[in-house]
Amino acid sequence: MSRAIEIVRAHGITRRTRPLVVLSAASGVTDTLIRISEFALKPDTHDALLLVDQLEARHARIARELIADSETVVTVQNQLHSVWEEVRTLVRGVHLLKELTPRSRDQFQSVGERCSTRIFQAALAERAGTSKTPVHYYDAREFFATTSDFTAARPLTGEIKKRMRKIHNALAKGAVGVSQGFIGSTAENQVTTIGRGGSDFSAAIQGVAIDAAEIQIWTDVAGIMTCDPRIAPAATTIDKISFSDASELAFFGAKVLHPETIWPAVEAGIPVRVLSSKEPENPGTIIVEDCESERPITGIAIRRTPVLVKITSRSAVIDTSIQAAAWEALDREGVAPLAVSLARDSALLVLDNMHAVPRLRAMLEHVADIEIVRDRALITLVGSGLKTRSGIAARIFRGLGRANCEMASFGGSQTSVSVVVQDDVAARVAKRLHGEFFE
Ligand code: ASP
Ligand code: MG
Repeated sequence: MSRAIEIVRAHGITRRTRPLVVLSAASGVTDTLIRISEFALKPDTHDALLLVDQLEARHARIARELIADSETVVTVQNQLHSVWEEVRTLVRGVHLLKELTPRSRDQFQSVGERCSTRIFQAALAERAGTSKTPVHYYDAREFFATTSDFTAARPLTGEIKKRMRKIHNALAKGAVGVSQGFIGSTAENQVTTIGRGGSDFSAAIQGVAIDAAEIQIWTDVAGIMTCDPRIAPAATTIDKISFSDASELAFFGAKVLHPETIWPAVEAGIPVRVLSSKEPENPGTIIVEDCESERPITGIAIRRTPVLVKITSRSAVIDTSIQAAAWEALDREGVAPLAVSLARDSALLVLDNMHAVPRLRAMLEHVADIEIVRDRALITLVGSGLKTRSGIAARIFRGLGRANCEMASFGGSQTSVSVVVQDDVAARVAKRLHGEFFE
């Protein structure tokens, strides 16, 4: 939080770009709030209330550590205290009713953001000091209009834009704003949340609503990297990446933010930059709707031990029903395979997890043998250059060296190539491929 305050100061108070800061809860707080809501159903409220006390104490301490002026500390602690009193009332309510509805879950879950932003606003205002920059607190429940799908509410972007006009004007006049990610409210003023990890999505929606010049997502990794640096130490930050390449990398296992969450911004033509609060000087990665990359490959993703499903027909003749059944099983489970390879009498599916396996078995076992293999890895090279440059496939296969490639799949988008190798050689292979294309 302290680093975040410094970042906002450096970027927004000393320079002329006034940010709206969209904050998530302090680390682990949302998880604990969910535990509290579930503990409220226990035979007594002791455990739930104990956790409430601990969270309150923790936030009081954060306020003390971040805010110097003791009167401000007391003011903030009092504001937070009334929020925690609300939580205690909720615990008793759920306990008496013996019922935890999605609506009440959201009342619990939304508290982390309400508290972190109170502290942040006060600490930032104090450190804005002599610059006379006003730092406003904006309650997302007043402007972030959503549907009433509690715990998975959808933002109502038109309404949000209308309600954020005032904020937009205040920022244009030189104020800095602090608001919450993740939370919003229904037309009946019931608090909602938009799904776990939703703060990036909130930031994108709010950024679009106020017509931001850029949206920055501050995480703890400096942008999107050419490969996992623990595997390829020479991996570097990708300066600029297209939305589709970023999405492909995420889909195939690179640890980057879920690109779908920032789609509203990209679509609106607002660049999104991913940066690290641990290395604030690093310019990170900028994600844009479309860009030409000078390299044929943008990045390499590795998925360790995915689920390989080998389906082999027991019939000697071509049985077209097998493929249809496999796709239907996946569809019914809402699972998209990472890669697929087909042969006359067999199919190989690479899946992210075991979720669809029981149904695949149920629908296919009477006609086919099904084998599950786990000690493999899927290495995927992503890049729009794959479509247009020649000789890339040869370089990829050369990069595999002596590793046994058990399956290769050219992604339907023609912007990715995936190979399956034994997991114990995967790191070596990925590193060599990284050398081939980036070093
Ligand atoms: N605090 C929320 C969560 O933990 C939202 C977020 O982190 O983006 O899910
Ligand atoms: Mg979080």
